[in-house]
Amino acid sequence: MKIHEYQAKQLFRKAGVPVLEGIVARTPDEAKAAFEKLGGSLAVVKAQIHAGGRGKGNIIDNPEQKGVVLVRSAAEAEAAANGLLGKTLVTIQTGPEGQKVNQIFVEQGCDIARELYMGIVLDRSTATPVLMVSSEGGVEIEKVAEETPELILKEHFDPAVGIEAFQVRKICKKLGISGTAAKSAGKFIAALCKFYVATDCEMAEINPLVIDAEGGMVALDAKITFDDNAMFRHPDLKELRDLDEEDPAEVRAANSGLSYVTLDGNIGCLVNGAGLAMSTMDIIKYHGGEPSNFLDVGGGANTEQVTEAFRILLADPNCKAVLVNIFGGIARCTTIATAIIEASKQVGFNVPLVVRLEGTEVEEGRKMLADSDVDIISAVDLTDAAAKVVAASK
Ligand code: ADP
Ligand code: MG
Repeated sequence: MKIHEYQAKQLFRKAGVPVLEGIVARTPDEAKAAFEKLGGSLAVVKAQIHAGGRGKGNIIDNPEQKGVVLVRSAAEAEAAANGLLGKTLVTIQTGPEGQKVNQIFVEQGCDIARELYMGIVLDRSTATPVLMVSSEGGVEIEKVAEETPELILKEHFDPAVGIEAFQVRKICKKLGISGTAAKSAGKFIAALCKFYVATDCEMAEINPLVIDAEGGMVALDAKITFDDNAMFRHPDLKELRDLDEEDPAEVRAANSGLSYVTLDGNIGCLVNGAGLAMSTMDIIKYHGGEPSNFLDVGGGANTEQVTEAFRILLADPNCKAVLVNIFGGIARCTTIATAIIEASKQVGFNVPLVVRLEGTEVEEGRKMLADSDVDIISAVDLTDAAAKVVAASK
């Protein structure tokens, strides 16, 4: 689960990770008032979307309008808000379709002395978090990792112990930080590592992390992803979820207990079991097709869930053919057959439907489909199914 920068910064403040004052605004008037309330001579208006690259990104059809704008008066803050709110921002992380800006963050302007990078992710190979720092702040870390990996320092830490003093000293040395800044860095890093573990983050990235004119370390940006599987432990964090930022089909599927991921191709897949879903996508690709989704209806899916799965699949305008691949173990082929008949009544199949059923109650399921008036293309095995659905999608 991702959250917005302004939400991440509220959590940071509580956790003792230094951030600047800022106010979230949803109208140009609010942005104007926010600038006045902050009371400084410089502020930054920042589009709040679940994607990075906002500083270099721009509004569709208005390349002059960037996603992060420095403003020097309330009127400028209002103008920036006007240029962003309700508009679509395109950054290297949003894809060409961009993301709509529903809120902005008006933050105190920072007197930046140095821009650094700091991020924490989970290293599955060591089963511990790993803190990464680099003197190259404000630029894409992927680029730094590829071109100048020696500029990134990685420090693994034990989640039960937290980052240790000698590691902080190592980091400061690498970044060339000493004196006041080193003290500030020690507090900052310890608080961030503690926050990462306490809130079950998957990723916490601060780019840029800055050292201001007084030598204080401040998080100027904040990107946080929480581990979905741990959210049951954090009901307060769960409330920070912004469904407007998520793929509507995926949200709808999750509400029905289905694992669904939207993809770029044109063949809809309805499969039970994540492993079978993966191999179904592989074999579709092997036959020259491209899946339009990943969908695992799970072992214990009922008719209503499977019917909803069809509704979601068929609502995708890119979907030109559907492959149903069910290996009935706990799931019964008759449940799937009922759902196919139900979905055909409720939604109608306007694209070819290839069905491969095997396993529990397969004969009954096949008979139900044969006796119905649903137009299906039957397949005898997975290879046959893939070849047929790829042909049907063309
Ligand atoms: P993104 O990563 O989405 O582009 P950032 O929050 O990193 O967004 O902002 C982009 C750039 O804007 C930063 O690298 C920094 O130079 C500048 N910036 C952001 N917030 C402030 C601030 N409060 N004061 C001064 N400059 C800022
Ligand atoms: Mg950034």
